[in-house]
Amino acid sequence: MDQPAISDGCCAGVWDALIIGAGPAGSMAARHLAACGRRVLLLDRSRFPREKVCGDALAPDALAVLQRAGLAERVQRIGHGVDGLRVFSPSQIEAEIRGSFLMLRRRALDALLAQAAIEAGASFRLAEVRTLEIDSGGQVTCGVAETERPIRARAALVATGANVCLIDRLGLVARRQASGIAARCYVRSALQLDHLVFSFERSALPGYRWIFPLGQGLYNVGCISFARTKAVRSTNLSRMFSKFTGGFPLASELIRRGEVLTPLRGARVRTGLTGAELAGRGPIVAIGESIGSTFPVSGEGVGNAMESAVLAADVIHEALSCPGACDLQSFATRITTTMRQRFRSYESIERWMCKPRLNDFVLGRVAKSRMLRQAFSRIINDQIDPRSVFSYRALWRSLWG
Ligand SMILES: Cc1cc2nc3c(=O)[nH]c(=O)nc-3n(C[C@H](O)[C@H](O)[C@H](O)COP(=O)(O)OP(=O)(O)OC[C@H]3O[C@@H](n4cnc5c(N)ncnc54)[C@H](O)[C@@H]3O)c2cc1C
Repeated sequence: MDQPAISDGCCAGVWDALIIGAGPAGSMAARHLAACGRRVLLLDRSRFPREKVCGDALAPDALAVLQRAGLAERVQRIGHGVDGLRVFSPSQIEAEIRGSFLMLRRRALDALLAQAAIEAGASFRLAEVRTLEIDSGGQVTCGVAETERPIRARAALVATGANVCLIDRLGLVARRQASGIAARCYVRSALQLDHLVFSFERSALPGYRWIFPLGQGLYNVGCISFARTKAVRSTNLSRMFSKFTGGFPLASELIRRGEVLTPLRGARVRTGLTGAELAGRGPIVAIGESIGSTFPVSGEGVGNAMESAVLAADVIHEALSCPGACDLQSFATRITTTMRQRFRSYESIERWMCKPRLNDFVLGRVAKSRMLRQAFSRIINDQIDPRSVFSYRALWRSLWG
């Protein structure tokens, strides 16, 4: 991975696009714009390959974006395929649902995506961005910690994940508070699990705990809490995690027959496509988790982060082709039209799954009804709108399915 430190050469001239943050959103946007022939500078404050706290699960929507970008095969070659989930309700009702996931540690995925951006022609540098401004000519001026010389660009994408300091200074943050917090660690165990395991134990709601197999006896084990406001700040993830490994039989067994390899590490999540101004400011827009592109309830966000990146890259490419200052306002309409509906659907799932009794009822029905299990598989595979299943009418119909 070639990620030199920022040099004076980066500060000479004007880049077409500056992209801050090389997570899935930033790297995918950089690859897309560079492939369109744009001069792109991609910056990240961490030296790659780097760790990122995540569940490491790529859902079908993420695989579809990778497929469209021509990267699915490369990712599949190093990932571990999983073809189903075991979901446990608060009363321990278990439902098994089919669905194709690819497990890949973010250290490897993010390095692969950054490498793909470099191969498409983007310049990737190690730098921590401190300031981002729009000058009188409508261009972007960026200050980094490593040099006093400013970097200039015609457009900029902020892809800094749940860290929204930069866009906050531009007045683009409507809600500073994260939507939730999550933590994970890696475990090696002799226990063989070949499904993703989700546990909606009562004490985890609103949220869940998970065991995700990465292959060869390695597991990503963690918990996520969407408790609101003050509760988010006071949620004690290590207590949540201990309850899981102490009280949930599969997790206890996993630990008993193995060893915890890494400390529990936590991170914030921003969900619901809310919390930030989608229209950005002139030639600057934010993408990925910075604009809340992670789904509520599931906490799955890699696919959406990349999708928001491709949409923004298209908007930048079009705007740069027009004369005059670059204006990216149309990104708001583009992303709302393409993605908002899906978020509404996940909000409807949230209403059902975050209440213990409704969660028991839904998973009880799923455990008994083949029709519902098939419908759930189709939701996971992004083939039907979840609202066609998460309704009293659909669940009632399932009594005969
Ligand atoms: C515990 C946990 C489990 C999760 N599990 C899953 C899962 O299994 N599947 C899934 O799809 N999603 C999961 N998510 C959500 C997923 O991690 C995010 O949706 C995704 O990482 C968002 O990608 P991004 O590119 O927007 O931001 P990020 O991946 O967070 O990347 C942001 C990048 O910006 C860089 N950066 C930040 N500030 C600056 C700065 N000032 N200057 C330069 N660089 C900067 C950072 O170093 C980082 O590399 C999980 C999240 C958590 C917290």
